[in-house]
Amino acid sequence: MSKEKIIPVFVPNYGCPHMCVFCNQIKITGTNTSISREEVIETIDNYLGFFNSNEESIIEIAFYGGSFTAIELAKQIELLEIAKFYKDNKRVNRIRISTRPDAIDENVLKILRKYSVDIIELGVQSLDKEVLNLSERGHSVEDVNNAVKLIKHFNFVLGLQMMVGLPGDNYDKSLSTLLKIIDLKPNFIRIYPTLVIKNTKLENMFISGEYKPLTVDEAVEICKDLLIVATYHQIPVIRIGLQTTECIQLGKDVVAGPFHAAIRQLIESRIYYDIIYSELSNIGISTENEILEVNCNTNIMSNVVGHKSYNKIKLCNEFNLKNIKFNKDDLSDKLIIKIGNIEKYIDVMEYINKKAILILDHAYIRGV
Ligand code: SF4
Repeated sequence: MSKEKIIPVFVPNYGCPHMCVFCNQIKITGTNTSISREEVIETIDNYLGFFNSNEESIIEIAFYGGSFTAIELAKQIELLEIAKFYKDNKRVNRIRISTRPDAIDENVLKILRKYSVDIIELGVQSLDKEVLNLSERGHSVEDVNNAVKLIKHFNFVLGLQMMVGLPGDNYDKSLSTLLKIIDLKPNFIRIYPTLVIKNTKLENMFISGEYKPLTVDEAVEICKDLLIVATYHQIPVIRIGLQTTECIQLGKDVVAGPFHAAIRQLIESRIYYDIIYSELSNIGISTENEILEVNCNTNIMSNVVGHKSYNKIKLCNEFNLKNIKFNKDDLSDKLIIKIGNIEKYIDVMEYINKKAILILDHAYIRGV
């Protein structure tokens, strides 16, 4: 399989006519208010020089941050021309942009098509009216639906981004947003737990006590269920959590919120914790002072063990186990757990599907 290699070009918000309460694009992209032609070319050349040309790969120029299609048109075209030049010369394979739902219309899409853009990511953030208002997003749910329809009509690959823990948000609203996003049938999703970034309105709301951010643990629990439901619906979640940069770190530009450099690993590990927990709870023998063996594929071993051995330590405490041994096995998407003379095969996908149905049934009962 070809490896995907991304050349990130961070576009600051100098085109964005809005100021969402959580946004300080300069801090998030690490980029100041302008980006020159020369800087973009230098960035692309640096990355291309760094990539191993003998390796089969798909190389993509991705304009991240800001609202690309809200930038002054001349600047958009300047940036797109550079990207198209590299694509036409077969030095890169794909071009990606990200933007706001209300910065999409037919003319915008015709321009993106003309400059060979392949992927459009829309910052949806929430599909709850109150959350959109409190976050001062400045666009409506209708804007999202219209933009998605148009993007699909033009046959672009579509990614939708959502946030959890925005002002006015809660578990049910996040799940409801995810379900509406799934109905829109994107090619992929990104999920961002809300962080309080320096010099944003959200920072003031946090200081005044008007806004309470999620803890890491709360964000992990919400995102875990979102990941399970998206996986059940076969929509890839390609990222959870903001990329750590020099500034995006707790104590630097992240003032508060569920920041963790390995949040995705925490979430995936928690799923394995739940799987093993539920099996041991129903094992039918005493686990006291026993040694539990868990066999799994090398690819998932670190998630099964947990970040800083979290799963190992917690399961040992919960079930009074003497120890847990994790063994590498040739299993794909399966776990074997052995304790005493009991051996159990666990199909991870089967667990995820059952769990997703349970989450959805409970949500239905609550009227989500
Ligand atoms: S639309 Fe995007 S770039 Fe503009 S203020 Fe909101 S989050 Fe920032």
